[in-house]
Amino acid sequence: MCAVGSGPESIEREEQFATAGPTETLERIVEFFRGGERPSAIGIGSFGPVDVDPRSPTWGHVTTTPKPGWKGAAVAPILRDRLGVSIAFDQDVAAAALGEYRWGAGRNAPSLCYMTVGTGIGAGLLIDGQPWHGLIHPEPGHIRVPHDRARDPFPGACPMHGDCLEGLASGPALEQRWGAPGHELAGDHPAWELEAHYLALGVLSIVCVFSPERIVLGGGVMEQPGLLERVAVRLRELVGGYLATPLLDDGINDYLVSPALGDRAGVLGAIALAQAASDRAG
Ligand code: ZN
Repeated sequence: MCAVGSGPESIEREEQFATAGPTETLERIVEFFRGGERPSAIGIGSFGPVDVDPRSPTWGHVTTTPKPGWKGAAVAPILRDRLGVSIAFDQDVAAAALGEYRWGAGRNAPSLCYMTVGTGIGAGLLIDGQPWHGLIHPEPGHIRVPHDRARDPFPGACPMHGDCLEGLASGPALEQRWGAPGHELAGDHPAWELEAHYLALGVLSIVCVFSPERIVLGGGVMEQPGLLERVAVRLRELVGGYLATPLLDDGINDYLVSPALGDRAGVLGAIALAQAASDRAG
């Protein structure tokens, strides 16, 4: 998804196309940005894993992705050289977190977790409104959660770890376990209680380690009506009154919230990244 603008109310141009191989996809991006006035900076929220360390020789590259052809793709350096503008580069979920922080459900929450549950599980963590990277970048989708194999014999769908959080609770995990994708499972199907249980365990780990002031939970799986509320109920049970804040007790529905920007969080966050890069460049 490509866009030129300065915020949700001021998108001048936008275009969406399917991701193909890197050469073809990057060429389409270059064409899009050459099709109008040159932007002052470009922000990129890329699928990953990616190298976001500006001191690294492979900054702006996709690293270990299983997507055909994309391993090692020099996304940010190629676009910088072809378009001659400064580039801010981050993970797609970090960009989405920033979009929700600036204009959506994460406003006034300087420490924010944006988690997406879809074909994978990813999360962007912001501290004082800045994406937190640490050593590489946080990958809370791959934390290990208790897996009771008597209740749930499904071995897990993560190709790297089997039954990590993503392996137990992503969209593909739901489909493999129950033989149908989530949107075909009825609201009272036992799938949803189990899904809420796993997601609450994952969110609990984030709460205990990172202590964010708000958590935005989005992605295709979270479109299931009632799922967010179930996760909130289970999270509150798991916290068990230990963490002394009303936000993790009877205020939990103000703490664990749905995204406000839908599938535009990422592209708007990329605009926010570009604005920060443009400000730094003066
Ligand atoms: Zn995993």
